[in-house]
Amino acid sequence: MKDGRDTASVGVDLGGTNIRAAVFDDGMGILSRSEKPTRAQEDADAVIQRVAACVREALERTSVAAEEVAGVGVGAAGLTDWRTGVVVLASNLGWKNVPLKERLEQELDGLRVEVDKDTNAAALAEARLGAGREFRHFLYVTAGTGIGGGLILDGTLYRGATGGAGDIGHVVVDPDGPPCGCGDHGCVEVFSSGAGMVDRAREILTGGGAEAASSAMTAEGLTTETMFEAAKEGDAVAAQVVETAGRALGLALADYVNINNPEAIVLGGGVIRAGRAYTDPVERELRRRALPALGEIVKLVPPGLGDDVGVAGAALLLAEKDGGSV
Ligand SMILES: [Zn+2]
Repeated sequence: MKDGRDTASVGVDLGGTNIRAAVFDDGMGILSRSEKPTRAQEDADAVIQRVAACVREALERTSVAAEEVAGVGVGAAGLTDWRTGVVVLASNLGWKNVPLKERLEQELDGLRVEVDKDTNAAALAEARLGAGREFRHFLYVTAGTGIGGGLILDGTLYRGATGGAGDIGHVVVDPDGPPCGCGDHGCVEVFSSGAGMVDRAREILTGGGAEAASSAMTAEGLTTETMFEAAKEGDAVAAQVVETAGRALGLALADYVNINNPEAIVLGGGVIRAGRAYTDPVERELRRRALPALGEIVKLVPPGLGDDVGVAGAALLLAEKDGGSV
């Protein structure tokens, strides 16, 4: 847009399993894509080189000239200091204090790079392009293997002091509950995430109680998909685990509602696709536990964007960092 020319931007979704890149035009339309496996078990440098290769490949698939590229935004799966572009802690990647921005700028010959937590990028995409467009105050929550979130306050992405704001997954809902990967006990993630639900079901199935004997599920090879199937077919253990999962998340969300008085909670992620067996108890508990005046007005809505939420949000980081809107 500088000197009347169109500007393209690149968004990268850096997850524990896959690296996805997409080139966007200045209207946020997708011009091209590229995807590679992360192979996080290799060292950080190898992963960063693959991110760079993914960006170059996506750009080569367009007719965009190098000088028309505004930069590369990266949403990384972990706690990230957006000011320095250092990934502070990412358990899915096995990273600690990796200077992603600096290293990627070297790999891409000085092309501008901005880095943030993936859920912050996703919240930004929902705010500008998705379900959040009609709200000025909302919490974006994604419930998949883990649970993460991003916070939009007064129309702006709010990151907190060090970039961790919105991390609803580690709100404690049962102080005596099972241990969490973060070192605490009874975080909402150990009950309500996909991995957490599988762990809770395994505990019951291997506990030898009457419920375990009545269940058609087996602890070995159990997945969230098989558990949701079993819950639909009336399996008591599966139904109990899914109900508890929904209630635990609803409780955490009620706390959030009481503190921040949002208009909406945008609730997405793989687990949500399982349907109302999960989302009904979320909503019930949220309404029951939040202060009535705050709980009555809050809307629980699905995301407006699909699988491209990560790459779109990452690309939007560039304009957001400049203080602009899109
Ligand atoms: Zn935790």
